[in-house]
Amino acid sequence: MSSYKLLTPGPLTTSRAVKEQMLVDRCTWDDDYKAITQKIRRQLLGLAHVPEHVYTTVLMQGSGTFVVEAVLNTCLGPTDKALIITNGAYGERLAQIAAYNQKNFCTYALPYNAVPEGDVVEDILKGDQAITHVVMVHCETTTGMLNPVEMVANIAKRHGKIVIIDAMSSFGGIPMHVEDLQLDFVISSANKCIQGVPGFGFVVAKKEQLLACEGNATSLSLDLVAQWKEMDKDGKWRYTSPTHVVAAFSKALDELEEEGGVQARYTRYRTNNATLRKEMEKLGFHSYIAEVVQSPIITTFLFPSSTFSFKSFYEFIKARGYVIYPGKLTNVDTFRIGNIGDIHEEDMIELVQIIADYQGGKIDA
Ligand SMILES: *Cc1c(COP(=O)(O)O)cnc(C)c1O
Repeated sequence: MSSYKLLTPGPLTTSRAVKEQMLVDRCTWDDDYKAITQKIRRQLLGLAHVPEHVYTTVLMQGSGTFVVEAVLNTCLGPTDKALIITNGAYGERLAQIAAYNQKNFCTYALPYNAVPEGDVVEDILKGDQAITHVVMVHCETTTGMLNPVEMVANIAKRHGKIVIIDAMSSFGGIPMHVEDLQLDFVISSANKCIQGVPGFGFVVAKKEQLLACEGNATSLSLDLVAQWKEMDKDGKWRYTSPTHVVAAFSKALDELEEEGGVQARYTRYRTNNATLRKEMEKLGFHSYIAEVVQSPIITTFLFPSSTFSFKSFYEFIKARGYVIYPGKLTNVDTFRIGNIGDIHEEDMIELVQIIADYQGGKIDA
């Protein structure tokens, strides 16, 4: 099997030390293992900049979507109504989850290259008093757009709404002061910016709001309050926990700290992203969204010409040690390059060189 680095937004390239944690089998009810879970929960509160008496964390088995579903299923009661802001596939998935779970919701749906506007959010909230929750994606991984969490949270809070943020592809890689922003629920997963492997997700939640949701859940395994109650006793998970993944994640959190915390990781990701976009532009690859709204996580590039073959481009790059990501837009031909994970500026430079070589050998360019 050939090995390559992942330039995708998760699963992503992890360090050897993170992978090595998975060579050990651990017992779910053993004190050592439960201590790992509790340590992770404390560290996550630290990353979110929240005090332990106001906020708490819940870890939940499954991929990121399972955790988003657990939050929406548990948070939205029969008399609640969510405003879901969408400008990409992950925002639309929030609405899809709400629909599957038969929750009351409305959407503020934007094109994939547009940013939510404060005036519109304000008008929607003023015009529909039934809305109790505002839900949005932070970094919309479909395009790489960074949504204005601060602006939306400020407006929502002025109107007394509960705020739920899908920060899946940004938490741990972009500084976020959850308490200052007064966010109620922030969702992320093990295999994104914290650089663990896939298998569970987590929620940083305002304790008071989480407890107020008791009894809402219509799914046993996705009941976030029940999950929290069990876990909060001593770190024992409700139902089988992904022990290998949890141990790897714990190592990944320690490595994040060693790197210098979220700020240092953010700086590395930003450098990766800036180098990538600058060099790609020189080769004639333009980014789909405006630079001001571009996140330092992943970039969507337009096909450089109508004869461009993503498949041959992908295979050429893969054979040289990197895997990139197809586009997720329906109306424009694009591909994506992620720059998170154990990826450094040298990788970006090497990748761009590979792409230049590809262009040199083809008439594509
Ligand atoms: C990755 C991601 C998810 C979750 O995806 P899974 O494939 O279920 O892990 C949700 N929202 C955003 C913004 C993401 O980037």
